[in-house]
Amino acid sequence: MLDLSIKNGRLVGVRPVFSGSILADVVSKTDPQLASVRGRAFPMPDAVAGRSGEVVKVDAGVSEAAVGMTVTGFEEVGGGEVNLNDAKIVVAGGRGVKGPEGFAPIKALADALGAAVGASRAAVDAGWIQYKYQVGQTGKTVRPDLYIACGISGAIQHLAGMGSSKVIVAINKDAEAPIFQVANYGIIGDLFTVVPALTAEVKKRLG
Ligand SMILES: Cc1cc2nc3c(=O)[nH]c(=O)nc-3n(C[C@H](O)[C@H](O)[C@H](O)COP(=O)(O)OP(=O)(O)OC[C@H]3O[C@@H](n4cnc5c(N)ncnc54)[C@H](O)[C@@H]3O)c2cc1C
Repeated sequence: MLDLSIKNGRLVGVRPVFSGSILADVVSKTDPQLASVRGRAFPMPDAVAGRSGEVVKVDAGVSEAAVGMTVTGFEEVGGGEVNLNDAKIVVAGGRGVKGPEGFAPIKALADALGAAVGASRAAVDAGWIQYKYQVGQTGKTVRPDLYIACGISGAIQHLAGMGSSKVIVAINKDAEAPIFQVANYGIIGDLFTVVPALTAEVKKRLG
């Protein structure tokens, strides 16, 4: 689910249907009402100092053999990089970067800001960057303080993964691009000019 609310005592979830072209309200007709939500779909509450909890292990009564999947281990990805899931700032590139080498200025700005790199599905599908960087309905959901979208049009499936960012900056040469409708700040221009200029300014100010 992308969102949850209670109406007339029933849990109402919002989820994408028909390949994400429609967001539908769905209601469970039976009890218990159960829903799973995407990571980062809701803001993280502030930590309450001194609050503690108790972990209670409940036997679900399901044998390990009955579960079709086995977790054999965990592997860290992107050693040294800022983790996209937890990043406070994300600099993302889309089809507008025009090729794998177009992510170099995106990465340079991300490095200057201590940010993570993100990407649209168009850039991932083109093979310019790995899937682990994809933001959106079929990628990661992020909720950073600052999301800088470079050469990304703002399709609904991309917005599903970053639309809850606190501040959105869009850099796009098309003034009519839908991303400007959700952006707090918009820069109409060529990302290959704007992004390096921003990087230089950030480096000058942050030292
Ligand atoms: C079921 C389904 C799931 C999907 N899941 C996802 C998902 O998880 N994430 C996702 O991102 N998409 C997803 N999509 C795809 C989505 O619909 C869009 O196709 C995709 O987001 C477009 O990526 P884009 O904005 O990079 O490319 P485009 O829509 O082609 O936009 C490129 C933009 O770059 C701008 N531009 C070009 N050159 C420059 C330049 N030099 N400087 C500045 N701007 C420039 C253009 O004006 C344009 O606005 C999904 C689609 C479906 C059907």
